[in-house]
Amino acid sequence: MQERFTGLFTQQEPIPEDGIEAAIAVLRHGRLHRYNTAEGEVAEAALLEEEFAALTGAKYCLAVASGGYALGCALRAVGIAAGEPVLTNAFTLAPVPGAIASVGGQPVFVEVTEDLTLDFDDLAAKAKATGARLLMLSHMRGHLCDMEALVALCADLGVTIIEDCAHTMGASWNGVPSGRHGLIGCYSMQTYKHVNAGEGGFLISDDAEVMARAVLLSGSYMLYGKHRAAPPPEAFEAVRMVTPNVSGRMDNLRAAILRPQLRVLGERVARWEVLYRTLEAGLADTNGLRLVPRPDAETFVGSSFQFLLPDFSPARIASFLARSVARGVEVKWFGADDPVAFTSRYDHWRYAAPQSLPQTDRILAGLFDLRLPLTFTPDDAAQIARILRAEVLAVGQGPEPEAVALPKVQ
Ligand SMILES: *Cc1c(COP(=O)(O)O)cnc(C)c1O
Repeated sequence: MQERFTGLFTQQEPIPEDGIEAAIAVLRHGRLHRYNTAEGEVAEAALLEEEFAALTGAKYCLAVASGGYALGCALRAVGIAAGEPVLTNAFTLAPVPGAIASVGGQPVFVEVTEDLTLDFDDLAAKAKATGARLLMLSHMRGHLCDMEALVALCADLGVTIIEDCAHTMGASWNGVPSGRHGLIGCYSMQTYKHVNAGEGGFLISDDAEVMARAVLLSGSYMLYGKHRAAPPPEAFEAVRMVTPNVSGRMDNLRAAILRPQLRVLGERVARWEVLYRTLEAGLADTNGLRLVPRPDAETFVGSSFQFLLPDFSPARIASFLARSVARGVEVKWFGADDPVAFTSRYDHWRYAAPQSLPQTDRILAGLFDLRLPLTFTPDDAAQIARILRAEVLAVGQGPEPEAVALPKVQ
């Protein structure tokens, strides 16, 4: 009998008990809106921002309704103009180009490298060709590029970096937290990310003017004085009457659920690394399979796992996916012609101008992806590796398999 994995790739851990208690306290008093506070009370949302600023070392932090909202808000806060080009990764997920399009920007996709990070040569070429002054850098699936080199390159190019840290909350590069290299760092607290409030987002920055605009944009009315991780009142003077309200606030219920999770983020990152390294060790030296190198400078969050089967034909890929999924391993593929659940590709985002990215096409055609929820144990990770390894070896040999339909996974 072949072994079959029975864990659920979409099942996260429960909310910690202290988060549940804090949420119930908010429900009991009923003051869910962040500016609805009793005499002398500090809102959960304001405390959450203060704690995330401390965790990342940022001067300012704003909590908002979603990660996608944070990205759009960041672009507005830096004054994006209608039709302005915005450089971004070709290998990312739909909320990133979506945020650019939502504020009237034009996504300009930059090629991905074999290591799943931004291609610096293509970045420089496209910055020069388009005159773009903004880069929305997606640390897609937690792979950080050489951040010092990128900061230097963007300074040369006159390009401002906004970081999409949806997959790197808790990660760092040479000890600097992800989100602290660019002008603004944006995060997501959606269920599949590293802390879970269902939905939610953060912006962090050291720039007072940009963050004053972000606070006003998020829908602070004239109550920004109630924030604790916002710039001082003077920073709002010049912008308070000219910044539109685009409501997207964080509420006290979700903030209450999140605060205890920030306290265990470091411990989660350590547990994720064990799962990731177990899977990586189990797949090492598998003929035909390429692992993604992890640079020493990077502290990563192993909440997902990627590998490449660069030489597999479409028929072998379909067979590998079908056989793995049949054995309970929900492996996803970035090469599909149509978007599947959360997984889509730059050429599916047809609101952006059509662009040709041959290097990205080649890499995504052989790129596979797994979620690693913390409900999995190291034994689970070892079993997943055994199944994948066996299927890569079985499908990679012999004559071309018959064409099969792609399995549907979330
Ligand atoms: C999840 C995600 C976001 C933010 O998405 P929301 O669902 O709006 O919180 C941004 N970028 C990437 C790469 C993501 O995966």
